[in-house]
Amino acid sequence: MKRLPTELSTRPKSLRDRRFSCVRVALDVPLARLFDYSLPDDMTAAVGDRVVVQFGARQRIGVVMEVGAVSELPVNRVKPLLAIRDDAPRLPADWLELMRFLSAYYQRPLGESVIGALPPRLRSVKPLPRKSVAAVEGEASAAFVPTHRLTQDQSAVFERVAASLGRFDAFLLHGVTGSGKTEIYLHLIARVLERGAQALVLAPEISLTPQLEQRFRQAFPGARLAVMHSGLQDIARTGAWLAAARGDAGIVLGTRLAVLAPMPRLALVLVDEEHDTSFKQQEGLRYSGRDAAVYRAKLAGCPAVLGTATPSLETWYNWQQKRYQRLELPERASPGARLPEVRTVDLRRETPEQGFAPSTLAAIAARLSRGEQSLIFINRRGYAPVLACEACGWTAGCTRCSARMVVHSASRRLRCHHCGAEEAIPRACPTCGNVDLRPLGRGTQRVEETLGARFAGARIVRIDRDSAQRRGELSRTLERVHRGEADILVGTQLLAKGHDFPGLTFVGVLNADAALVSTDYRAAERLFAVLEQVSGRAGRRERPGEVLVQTRYPGHPLFSALARHDFSGFAQSQLDERKAAGFPPFVFEAALRAEAPKLDAALRFLREAARLAEAPPAVRVYDPVPHVITRIAGMERAQLLMQSSSRPALQGYLSALSTALFEAAPRHLRWHLDVDPIEFD
Ligand code: ADP
Ligand code: ZN
Ligand code: ZN
Repeated sequence: MKRLPTELSTRPKSLRDRRFSCVRVALDVPLARLFDYSLPDDMTAAVGDRVVVQFGARQRIGVVMEVGAVSELPVNRVKPLLAIRDDAPRLPADWLELMRFLSAYYQRPLGESVIGALPPRLRSVKPLPRKSVAAVEGEASAAFVPTHRLTQDQSAVFERVAASLGRFDAFLLHGVTGSGKTEIYLHLIARVLERGAQALVLAPEISLTPQLEQRFRQAFPGARLAVMHSGLQDIARTGAWLAAARGDAGIVLGTRLAVLAPMPRLALVLVDEEHDTSFKQQEGLRYSGRDAAVYRAKLAGCPAVLGTATPSLETWYNWQQKRYQRLELPERASPGARLPEVRTVDLRRETPEQGFAPSTLAAIAARLSRGEQSLIFINRRGYAPVLACEACGWTAGCTRCSARMVVHSASRRLRCHHCGAEEAIPRACPTCGNVDLRPLGRGTQRVEETLGARFAGARIVRIDRDSAQRRGELSRTLERVHRGEADILVGTQLLAKGHDFPGLTFVGVLNADAALVSTDYRAAERLFAVLEQVSGRAGRRERPGEVLVQTRYPGHPLFSALARHDFSGFAQSQLDERKAAGFPPFVFEAALRAEAPKLDAALRFLREAARLAEAPPAVRVYDPVPHVITRIAGMERAQLLMQSSSRPALQGYLSALSTALFEAAPRHLRWHLDVDPIEFD
């Protein structure tokens, strides 16, 4: 432990007004500063120690950010540290640096950022009970059981990244669906484990795609694998964090929050499906897990690999600007596997029946007769998005949100997908008494019902957030699909990600059009990504795959790019549009958001906030506007957009603005800054 300057341990009481040295502690309070505490004679503290302090009437956990600083406060105003915790490793310097960076970049006070990044049990002033937190299992063996010998293309990628082990390099691994990206990750990790180092793997929503974890466990039967996601119980999450922080876990596999786990021997950072929007944290410290991962690799001096079939335009642009190197896998890895044939079904010519065009139904029927699987993709869960009275035009709305209630057939209830409110389906229209209420439109449950009626005897499996509520259940369902015990899968986005169903040869897409007419400039990028991903589930072995996209805009360039699997062409046309319109990645953005019981108050606050700091000429501050869905859970929301083509100019303005807001913002009003925002509704 570091020796402390002598004046720290001898604190002369007579010298009340003399300057003296103290420790500076980060606390989870919404104030953008650290707090001074004195060090009792019998304690030695170092930067990164978790400590217990008195703050107001409460004891709190804090993290020592500086020792030996000179306090500005009189001696008698400074309280002593109460305890130093040694139940978890001291937070390392590179981790503190990461948190300083994230806190400054995303405009969140350092204390809230640092304490918020700790696992739940370590945020508590209670010491960790010695035995309660199970270590991750395994013997730290580096045995590797590869599933395949790498193809030539894969080997080239592997060698390129392996050559960068030991230094920072950022790679975009652009490989079509099924090109064997995961297989490369496994080989790279094997190399890292051989050297006794640690690998960090970030993936979207791993609690919902358990087969990624399975693949890791099969490849590394003896390795200590720490899995981290927010669906875990506090104890398990804390245990995984400790395994990472102690260096016990050779592999840390998790969602975005895993990027915040200390890893003393970090030697490789992998981000799978880097384009996925779930990498952006939407509350508290609103960081991008992907961008934080690249920064972390830089701090650790190791390579970062961002893998995807459909890069985000930010990442694509970073490659064009030569910040990232692009590694390409243009073909599927499995022998004989081809990318599927993608075509549109023109809904203006083929009249759909309960949502299905005749061509789509025929394609499913053909698969059924051949014993192959079909996947029907519809990006909406529930039975129907609207319950309406045809007599008077009433629709069921949520009382707390400006949104409609969604009909759920299994529970026979209405549910709000924004605030979670639920109620029974009314027997009659509340305004006119009409008993003939109609569900309009369709979601996964209704599609499942329609298919069941149409293809009697077919085994239909629905996979969405509702059917995946219990973790074990989703795994069991997926197992059944893998074993071929399902003929038709109906699902949302959840099915698009990472699944490898060998018998699946047809994908039908039901409602692609909403995104084409959206006002969100990112809608096309997302639609292309999800369609390419979901198409990527078809034909992953010898039997060719076919994809039909039902649309009223069959001539849309997005569909022709999709049919050619031409991501580059699509990306370039999007980038051209964004450049002309002045959208990211050509400008940097931030949003200031506020919510209040009444919209007026939120708008007024934003208008005044914009005047608190003077925007430099390089920063453009827009007028505040209400959110598209203005009210959620009883709060009305508005936001103000800030843009600049200079990141430093925007960052400078944001710091000034947030400092002013912390001083001036009224307590009763909730506000936050979102840097590099991706959701605007
Ligand atoms: P991606 O992560 O790019 O979607 P995967 O790593 O999941 O690709 O591989 C897709 C499929 O191809 C899997 O079934 C995998 O087992 C198989 N595969 C991967 N690499 C090879 C290889 N070198 N030889 C044969 N099959 C492979
Ligand atoms: Zn009515
Ligand atoms: Zn609601």
